[in-house]
Amino acid sequence: MFDIIDKLAVQHTLSHEEFRELIENRTPAVDEYLFAKAREIREKYYGKEVYLRGLIEISNYCRNNCFYCGIRNGNREASRYRMSKADILSCCREGYALGFRTFVLQGGEDAYFTDEKMIDIVSTIRQQFPDCAITLSLGEKSYETYKAFYDAGADRYLLRHETATPEHYAQIHPAKMLFETRQKALQDLMEIGYQVGSGFMVGTPFQTASHLATDLLFLANFRPHMIGIGPFLSHHNTPFSHYPDGSVELTLFLLGLLRLILPASLLPSTTALGVADPDGREKGLLAGANVIMPNLSPAEVRAKYILYDNKIGTHDDAASSLKKIAERVIRTGYHIAVHRGDAKPEK
Ligand code: SAM
Repeated sequence: MFDIIDKLAVQHTLSHEEFRELIENRTPAVDEYLFAKAREIREKYYGKEVYLRGLIEISNYCRNNCFYCGIRNGNREASRYRMSKADILSCCREGYALGFRTFVLQGGEDAYFTDEKMIDIVSTIRQQFPDCAITLSLGEKSYETYKAFYDAGADRYLLRHETATPEHYAQIHPAKMLFETRQKALQDLMEIGYQVGSGFMVGTPFQTASHLATDLLFLANFRPHMIGIGPFLSHHNTPFSHYPDGSVELTLFLLGLLRLILPASLLPSTTALGVADPDGREKGLLAGANVIMPNLSPAEVRAKYILYDNKIGTHDDAASSLKKIAERVIRTGYHIAVHRGDAKPEK
């Protein structure tokens, strides 16, 4: 196992069989060996800096019905909201004052936010915050729409591939949502010139080690700038309410592998990791992650953007979320950077 990790650190990829073997035969000693290598590589590129992204959850209306997600259209219990342009801008102002230089506008696929409305919002943020990166995470759109958002000033787009195995994609999404559409959207985003974030949940129902090996090979080949992975966490009012949560240990292990596969990538230590384990986000940083995404949404709306049960920080305001996270970052020996936090070129 140690030999395979050494080989991955040099070659940045492995065979499907080797990835599967690593995933199936983890031991605490192998974990520690991997994490030490992952930290060495992340420090070569990013030193001790942790990059910040300010998450603004603009709407929890969604036309989709993903089987795992708490804001799915079919969840009639969800209390729906959408933020106004003025509220989004005031979150950006508050975030800027706190040191954020990247804003992530995330939401369900909400038809209220037409292309025209989004272009107006993006171009206003671009004018008012010229030194900030604008990231969108609004799901599947046409090439033309992605291009129009890019031309309006968006720099980055987050769209997880969710799973690189078509049969597994079909097991966790309704028939209307197609694996091919998701893959095409990712290709479009790359072609337009976005810095692209992709990724997957760890421990979704029906997921196997072989699926995860396929995910790693997909990412090694697609080479996104950012990769978001976090444990699947069940939500009580979804078709997957009775499935167990994903494993924190396996998520950390995969983060370590991803740092070796794509040494210069941006790897967030996700909220889901912090929900599954109170020290999850620190552990993520120590396994190779280098980004955190504190919540900038107003306290009254963040209690409604519930993807899974037991979401942390749902009553905090932006300043207290950041303060709590900064304290956790300091404990790891790393510190938060105040700049846009672009990915470094590969060495
Ligand atoms: N609508 C946009 C999209 O689909 O990309 C952005 C919002 S979507 C809720 C963001 C991510 O949340 C998804 O890509 C998914 O991986 C994650 N997510 C949804 N439900 C989850 C759950 N139950 N546990 C962990 N992560 C979840």
